[in-house]
Amino acid sequence: MSTPPVLALSGVRKEFGDHVVLDSIDLTVNQGDVVALIGASGSGKSTLLRCINLLEQLDDGQMWLSGDDISDPRVNVDTVRARIGVVFQQFNLFPHLSVLRNITLADTEVFGTPKAKAEATAMRLLERVGLADKAKAFPDRLSGGQQQRVALVRAIATNPEVLLLDEITSALDPELVGEVLDLVRTLKEDGTTIVMATHEMDFAKDVSDQVVFLDQGVICEQGSPQQIFESPTKDRTKEFLHRFN
Ligand code: ADP
Ligand code: MG
Repeated sequence: MSTPPVLALSGVRKEFGDHVVLDSIDLTVNQGDVVALIGASGSGKSTLLRCINLLEQLDDGQMWLSGDDISDPRVNVDTVRARIGVVFQQFNLFPHLSVLRNITLADTEVFGTPKAKAEATAMRLLERVGLADKAKAFPDRLSGGQQQRVALVRAIATNPEVLLLDEITSALDPELVGEVLDLVRTLKEDGTTIVMATHEMDFAKDVSDQVVFLDQGVICEQGSPQQIFESPTKDRTKEFLHRFN
């Protein structure tokens, strides 16, 4: 038996009132893949990530995480979320907790990992990203880039099956973007499966295995970075990419 994809979406639809925000979304994400979601503001990227993380209820369609139907209304939301790592645009570290505690919290409280073990994992990860000396600091002492790197470390500390990143460099000063993207690149090299909404086209081209161009809630075009960035077939894709050149 072959292993199921890490994530599979079929016919996903989401409406807000009479506004169809996502329609007929089909997506397959295999182990170790990096998928870049691109598209104009309002095209549905964040809503799609929120649907996958069960922050929004689908109006139609199905989603599977490693073969488990997570769109079943009877699913345990907390159990599913524990299998998914998420980092948003705005730094979402807990301000009243140290960097170390931010990282260990889910591990000890959700997974019941002993504190010493969770801390050892956190310290090993902080060392890898060059932030071990910040372990005892509170988030407000860190730069935005450092905070996002801690948020990434926190998101992977519990070994999620997939990592969802929603424009994680959009709120950063330009000089801090690189250090965060470098860490995402490292996570990919480690084999992390990632679905990321991004406006960093060069990065998407460089790091992703699959690019999905969303236009008004539908997948207008999808393919390899070469296909999408070098020879897009749809006028909407060409128009969108033109803005970044
Ligand atoms: P993107 O992340 O690509 O900018 P979003 O997923 O944030 O797009 O938004 C897609 C559309 O859904 C937009 O028109 C937005 O206004 C609408 N939308 C998002 N969240 C809500 C909500 N909670 N209620 C109503 N409309 C929403
Ligand atoms: Mg968004």
